[in-house]
Amino acid sequence: MIRPMIAANWKMYKTIPEAVALAQRLRDAFAEPEDRDIVVAPPFTALGSVSAILKGSPVRLSAQNMHWEAQGAYTGEISAAMLIDAGCEFVILGHSERRTLFGETGGMVNRKMRAAIQAGLKPIFCIGETLEQRQSGATFAVLEEQIKEGLNNIDSGDIRRVTFAYEPVWAIGTGETATPGQAQEAHRFIRERLTSLYGEDIASPAVIMYGGSVNPGNAGSLMEQPDINGALVGGASLEFESFAGIIRF
Ligand code: PEP
Repeated sequence: MIRPMIAANWKMYKTIPEAVALAQRLRDAFAEPEDRDIVVAPPFTALGSVSAILKGSPVRLSAQNMHWEAQGAYTGEISAAMLIDAGCEFVILGHSERRTLFGETGGMVNRKMRAAIQAGLKPIFCIGETLEQRQSGATFAVLEEQIKEGLNNIDSGDIRRVTFAYEPVWAIGTGETATPGQAQEAHRFIRERLTSLYGEDIASPAVIMYGGSVNPGNAGSLMEQPDINGALVGGASLEFESFAGIIRF
């Protein structure tokens, strides 16, 4: 049995007081160690304050992005060491909004992955196809390419630090969720690719979350699938009740 992970991506939402208030409610509601991992990814400005609130709590902290360089003249960027300094354990990398809206290529995602691992962060590595790619029958080819590029030069020792997220772009923020069958098929494909790259020992226990309009009503049927080991949640993670409902799937 793989320990599932339920992760909240708060994107560019929440001021510091708003993020702290939600983190506080999550901390109080999930104070006992659960049989699942709970992660929140607030915006950069709230990381330090949320980290302080979550001290000693099983709810864990993630950033939403980082730069691959350790430091330098990169105005507006944040390094892995800065995220660790702010209390982060995880960092979301390769999110489709970064790829499509901010021009992140597979090569850039790979540099970030390697820098994150080297610094001691645990990447949450996101992959997924667009609607056009799905409709043209290219889903598996796209996933294969994103895996190949994103995991380039990441060895079997380091890959254990990575959590995976299958997020079909057409399901993110649209209210349209992949059916459990569609999601399972993609998750199985990802696990098979990991098996051929790293072997069964690494692929079998790998956590592969599903993301794309997960809500308390559909979380259970997605999580019942054998290769779905959690959820990366955007919209429904912004309110306590809906995110708590997903955590308790
Ligand atoms: C996401 O952005 O990772 C996501 C899955 O968003 P939503 O749940 O809103 O579709």
